[in-house]
Amino acid sequence: MPIIHQQISALRADLQLYRGSKSDHPSDKSEGRHRIALVPTMGNLHDGHLELVRIAKQQADIVVVSIFVNPTQFGEGEDLDSYPRTLDKDVEKLATVGADYVFAPSTEEMYPVLPPPTAVIAGAIADQLCGRSRPGHFDGMGIVVSKLFNIVQPDVAVFGQKDYQQLAIIKQLVRDLSYPIEIIEAPIIRAEDGLALSSRNQYLSKAERQIAPVLHQELQRLAQQLQSSQLHSQQVAALDVLLTDTHKRITEAGFVIDYLEVKTEQLTPVVTTENFNKEKPNLIVLVAAQLGRARLLDNQLVTVS
Ligand code: AMP
Repeated sequence: MPIIHQQISALRADLQLYRGSKSDHPSDKSEGRHRIALVPTMGNLHDGHLELVRIAKQQADIVVVSIFVNPTQFGEGEDLDSYPRTLDKDVEKLATVGADYVFAPSTEEMYPVLPPPTAVIAGAIADQLCGRSRPGHFDGMGIVVSKLFNIVQPDVAVFGQKDYQQLAIIKQLVRDLSYPIEIIEAPIIRAEDGLALSSRNQYLSKAERQIAPVLHQELQRLAQQLQSSQLHSQQVAALDVLLTDTHKRITEAGFVIDYLEVKTEQLTPVVTTENFNKEKPNLIVLVAAQLGRARLLDNQLVTVS
């Protein structure tokens, strides 16, 4: 079973024992010393989270999974209070994939002053997509991830591509604040019918759960259309038509769409035909949509060249 710590000092003391000491991890990255991996989560773990831990185990000797429902990334009227908290079950699941430590701090341990007067500002990249309907969300995510990086001081941290904008902001944070941490991206883990696994899927009624895979199906369909179009000038102009059609189909299935957008892989806008034809950037289709009580996110990469 993983060792559970609620106190920053206790976790730090344990990790200090490994830092600098010899490792026999098969990864040639270890250079003979212990490597520490961090997998940040909000708990209520599913196979998507467990896959991040499996990936982390391949990269490091010691895997720390944090479980913290971070209040600073929830807006007013969001599901902070009702977010599922299932620590005992989570720890059992983590034992099956060999996590070494669970860091499950209280809100007071993480935030002696709440809201914290010190801020992490994610900037322009956070003003779009999820950030538009959840103002401040990525600043809150940024501060908690910064704190976790400082507490654990991992060599590597693993994040899922399901939260694509979050991942882009974390890479920006690592670059701008000079964290000596390698960020590993994990692919989206899905249910058999294609629905991306998420802690919020449990808000879906039985009937909604039947409808939910439509989101992935429609993204795949749009991604295939974009791929086969090869995106020469006329098809770029047709992007809006394809998006409008997909928007309509998802809405007709019963979702209320927050956004459905095509961006470059770096989350910059698909601006002009010229930049398109010259640079041939890979694209990503991103969606957030409400189905009943659940806000569902998904995305699909489109390799252009
Ligand atoms: P959360 O607990 O929702 O904050 O997610 C914690 C981490 O798990 C984040 O890096 C997410 O991107 C990742 N994650 C959540 N769901 C999935 C999934 N279905 N596939 C892969 N990664 C996921």
